[in-house]
Amino acid sequence: MAKSSDKCSFCGRSRSEAEVLIAGINGNICQDCVAQAQIILSEEHSIKKPQRVKELKLMKPSEIKKYLDQYVIGQEEAKRILSVAVYNHYKRISQSTFKGGPGSNDDVEIEKSNIIIVGETGTGKTLLARTIAKMLHVPFAIADATVLTEAGYVGEDVESILVRLLQASDYDVKLAEQGIVFIDEIDKIARKSDNPSITRDVSGEGVQQALLKLLEGSVANVPPQGGRKHPEQKMIQINTEKILFIAGGAFDGIEKIIASRMRANVIGYSKNKEQVDIDKNNLMQYIAPPDLKKYGLIPEIVGRLPVVTFLSPLDKIALKRILNEPKNALVKQFTRLFEMDDIELTITDEALDLIVDKAIEFKLGARGLRSILEAILNDAMFELPSKKSVKELIVTHDYANEKLLKNPIARLKVA
Ligand code: ADP
Repeated sequence: MAKSSDKCSFCGRSRSEAEVLIAGINGNICQDCVAQAQIILSEEHSIKKPQRVKELKLMKPSEIKKYLDQYVIGQEEAKRILSVAVYNHYKRISQSTFKGGPGSNDDVEIEKSNIIIVGETGTGKTLLARTIAKMLHVPFAIADATVLTEAGYVGEDVESILVRLLQASDYDVKLAEQGIVFIDEIDKIARKSDNPSITRDVSGEGVQQALLKLLEGSVANVPPQGGRKHPEQKMIQINTEKILFIAGGAFDGIEKIIASRMRANVIGYSKNKEQVDIDKNNLMQYIAPPDLKKYGLIPEIVGRLPVVTFLSPLDKIALKRILNEPKNALVKQFTRLFEMDDIELTITDEALDLIVDKAIEFKLGARGLRSILEAILNDAMFELPSKKSVKELIVTHDYANEKLLKNPIARLKVA
């Protein structure tokens, strides 16, 4: 039997059971009891401190969209839908906070509508999520569905998503229960059998089932420090009923599913070739819940993500705007870098066109813009800081082309 000096004085676990045992003057404490004590303290603290959510400024949907416009180019439909979702989320939280207050109607419980955003990589899904996070005063966490596995397998349990939210809330459970979670790459947990284009089935249906419980609202047991659950570990209970989930995914190949559904719908309807082509280029805009099901999401998950929206592929005009317009646009960032060396940077319109053309040619989308700019400006960023006499740099089409040709990025020709 373990001596009392070798046991946790709070839960009684022995030194071998508890990974870490911290010795005090008259007793010991294990790591799990330290974590539990921290939760008790933060709960006490949250009772005493004013509910942070009461201080929320209720931004109207149009104000939320205006905020998103500063950072995210285009994607109007998705921004409108997200603005409404975030606004309703605020209201839902306020309703529970002000329950019983003047004018409130306790019988009406506003349910959440989780969202799914479908769009190619590099079209702004993560950017949208991050921008919402910046704007919000509710806790926000980003999780990657590809690391999730069924309980008992190597990888992370779905509850790890909530650990992140808990950390974003400073371990304030009540605050975490009002948060928003972005789950990226949800398409990667699609059922393999229904989806021949996915060659890698990270976890599939089991993870979807586990995720479903979180999406539909349940009390989840969360290991406070993350990692694997083990029987002796004290768990924190988090109710996911009010947490808003936003899922995102590229859903490679889903256009074929949309197309075959649309074809079935338009049989007998005569269209000229041009119209058919336009539809083909923009198929994502017709995304509907049945397509997600066909792709391999289980019907229950699709049902719990009732708001479906899409991000369009970025065309030349959008890419050029992305270079110049957002609050922290790439051109603004490089201009600032040169400014710090007292050099005025100008990139001509033709040079910008070249950058955009290269991004499209290399099939890098908006993701490629920065690497291309870096490649063009690298020589100047190396040489000019030591040339005191140079006060300006004008990047013309020819200058940009010359720098790109001698850069390894030029070899990035895509088949
Ligand atoms: P996704 O999550 O859809 O794969 P990201 O949001 O990570 O793509 O975007 C990749 C890069 O491209 C980021 O640096 C982002 O700033 C930029 N970007 C993508 N879409 C947009 C957009 N619509 N407006 C502004 N920048 C964008």
